[in-house]
Amino acid sequence: KQSSPEKSHVFKSKLPTIPISNHLPLHTYCFENFSHYPDRKCLLVGNGTGKSYTYAETHLICRKVAAGLSNLGIKKGDVVLVLLQNCAEFVFTFMGASMIGAVTTAANPFCTANEIFKQFRASNSRMIITQAQYVDKLREGGDDSPKFGEDFSVITVDDPPEGCLHFSVLSEANENDAPAAVEIDSDDAVSLPFSSGTTGLPKGVILTHKSLITSVAQQVDGENPNLYLKPDDVVLCVLPLFHIYSLNSVMLCSLRAGAAVLLMQKFEIGSLLELIQRHRVSVAAVVPPLVLALAKNPMVDQFDLSSIRMVLSGAAPLGKELEAALLSRLPQAVFGQGYGMTEAGPVLSMSPSFAKQPLPTKSGSCGNVVRNAELKVVDPETGFSIPRNQPGEICIRGPQIMKGYLNDAEATARTIDVEGWLHTGDIGYVDDDDDVFIVDRVKELIKFKGFQVPPAELEALLVSHPSIADAAVVPQKDEAAGEVPVAFVVRSNGFELTEEAVKDFISKQVVFYKRLHKVYFVHAIPKSPAGKILRKDLRAKLAAAS
Ligand code: AMP
Repeated sequence: KQSSPEKSHVFKSKLPTIPISNHLPLHTYCFENFSHYPDRKCLLVGNGTGKSYTYAETHLICRKVAAGLSNLGIKKGDVVLVLLQNCAEFVFTFMGASMIGAVTTAANPFCTANEIFKQFRASNSRMIITQAQYVDKLREGGDDSPKFGEDFSVITVDDPPEGCLHFSVLSEANENDAPAAVEIDSDDAVSLPFSSGTTGLPKGVILTHKSLITSVAQQVDGENPNLYLKPDDVVLCVLPLFHIYSLNSVMLCSLRAGAAVLLMQKFEIGSLLELIQRHRVSVAAVVPPLVLALAKNPMVDQFDLSSIRMVLSGAAPLGKELEAALLSRLPQAVFGQGYGMTEAGPVLSMSPSFAKQPLPTKSGSCGNVVRNAELKVVDPETGFSIPRNQPGEICIRGPQIMKGYLNDAEATARTIDVEGWLHTGDIGYVDDDDDVFIVDRVKELIKFKGFQVPPAELEALLVSHPSIADAAVVPQKDEAAGEVPVAFVVRSNGFELTEEAVKDFISKQVVFYKRLHKVYFVHAIPKSPAGKILRKDLRAKLAAAS
């Protein structure tokens, strides 16, 4: 894609550009100030044990983990796969790996063995750090899966099953065993989340030390006029750390700001409310289904949530009604929305973005573009940038965006153009106050409660079924999940096939949020002359049927 040479329709933050120390390694930047507050709480483990770690303790364990990883042969550039629910060990591993120049790729522990090994192979991982309960599926694997104990070693954070090591080989290593000086370039990878981007299968997104430092700085550095995070904040970390939103905007931003992170393993409304009350949570990073729970669940009235000063929602669109319902429940809180995409580092815009006081934000807005970055809206047909108040494809440019997709120059070139603009596949506009609004998505991606469901992945599985000749998967609107995947399926000549059989076939192979909610049998999948699925037509068909 080529974009217009003219620069007139480029939007920037109204805040001044700030100096960003993005020449540092990420761990140095995040822990840069902790010696001023070594005894301040850093990690609070919200599992009922009351365990917590100060900044000094956290930093020391990260250094030990760095040493432990290198004792086990992990070197600069090596990739460690983390398959964990939120826990302190996730943070120790991520930071420890960064300290020796290694890279972390994280996957959802609920994924099937097949999904995990796809990521394992594509990322060329050397080791898996997980919980005992997930070890069996790693042992089973598939026919062509890497072999447990031969091709990879497994470390568990709890009682290690046979053949696994316990996390203490890392966390109790001698911190002096870490290599003395690892040369880390700001352009080296540190994190490798997987995302399908605008099209196709999940791909490794190379986020470098520079990208993540820039993104964190854009959110919490400088004058901090957006009041996003302060040192005395207690920040709720219930969103999974294997997604970049939680990893960056919750974990990394909190460490940089010197705030405390309350780690919650999984979402359950009763314990969530109890933890918010007990730990006096002040900032809650959420996704729309969690806003729904906080706004509507009757249990909310039984707890004291007055400590919450800010709620930030992201990862999927949020309706204005829901925002209003939440604020009527938490009248003391400021509500903000963030707009992100893994490939963008991930934050493109956030609100409240330049309020000197915590002002109420404009309903439905995703705030203003972050500092030290440029945003434009382009006509998807011509690629030319267009003025404010007109919808088009959102593009972003700045040092925070990904370096590219791992081993996929073609997909990288399709996403980042020659001028450095990252094309998001989202349709939105910028209004008179520079507020960004997202109105549609032109890319294939389906988002179930903020989780990615790449249609291409489900389509590949569907056509591998002997009775299926062709298939297409598109999103259907859903009140609770935002969107759910539904399939259009063409049966092979003469074959019987029921909706249940198709659903079962997929359910066995994918994580729960990628399951099909409906199957429509059709005679043909509409395609362009070039053979591309006409998803718009299928979406329109669904909309007409509902
Ligand atoms: P992911 O890479 O998993 O973070 O997914 C990124 C995509 O989620 C974006 O490109 C959008 O389509 C969608 N998304 C993220 N945040 C928002 C938001 N605040 N409003 C609407 N869509 C969003």
